Amino acid sequence: MADAPCRVCGSHRHVHLCRTANEHSATRWLDNYRCLACGSVFIGNALAPAELSEAYAALDEAAYYDETAQASAPKFAAAADDIAALVPRDAALLDVGGGNGAFARALHGSGFSNLSIHEIPGGELSNLPPSVRNIYRDDDYASLPGGAFDIVSMMDVLEHVPDLAATLSGVQRVLRPGGTLYVHTPVVTVLDRLMHAVQKFPLIGGVGRAWQRTRTSIYHLQNFTPRALRLLMARYGFNVVRLARINELSWPIDYYVRVYLVQLRGMPSFLVRPVTLLLTPLLRSRLNANKAVLVARRRG
Ligand SMILES: [Zn+2]
Repeated sequence: MADAPCRVCGSHRHVHLCRTANEHSATRWLDNYRCLACGSVFIGNALAPAELSEAYAALDEAAYYDETAQASAPKFAAAADDIAALVPRDAALLDVGGGNGAFARALHGSGFSNLSIHEIPGGELSNLPPSVRNIYRDDDYASLPGGAFDIVSMMDVLEHVPDLAATLSGVQRVLRPGGTLYVHTPVVTVLDRLMHAVQKFPLIGGVGRAWQRTRTSIYHLQNFTPRALRLLMARYGFNVVRLARINELSWPIDYYVRVYLVQLRGMPSFLVRPVTLLLTPLLRSRLNANKAVLVARRRG
């Protein structure tokens, strides 16, 4: 495992951060690394497509989307408005990985009329608004027409992708020259780096490893850095127009506390409310600017 290349940039220069448990597939322990070349944090285990499919099949998607809906509805509405400032509302828009329809509904609500969805086979596909004209389902984007889209959106998708080269070259191919790529994806934060330091200490290391489980897993294979995203854009034929870091949580904070501290660490549940109140200012601070919003244009 020591020579696993960075999932993001391919460099072999990295440090091992910690091992985290995995209950979603056959691999019991995941090795978390930080790349010294691009700064990304990634799962270094070799994971076959069949194992990733097994892990996703174990995920209760309906429950997952219910739990994330409260936090994701305002974030998707804001992102749809953000896109409306970039392209006309009749632009041909492909939402990659948006099969549960949440972002398509937000786009529909913002007035977009020419939507397409790409989803992997077996992934959720539900409750799509009437402005979705085309649905494409495959593993490699081969069913999508080349140069056909004005804009591609990827909301919280890139961190799940085992083969970034295939995904980004596929997206580049389906965009028209000059077309826009719009991405939200997790980035490594100051708080992450503090927790990486904590992971090395005997008594408090468990806190750092529990934190890491909330950041990388068999589902979230990599957290990027702005440097890594710029490198990927240059490599796959895009010019970066805008790259900002924002604070954007997928779940309400008490949900994180319940899952990671009560269920996994055995914390008494009467502590959920005080711990949530204690953590909220930190998790909403600049130290936890955890999401990159990237706008890039396909080179002509
Ligand atoms: Zn790297």
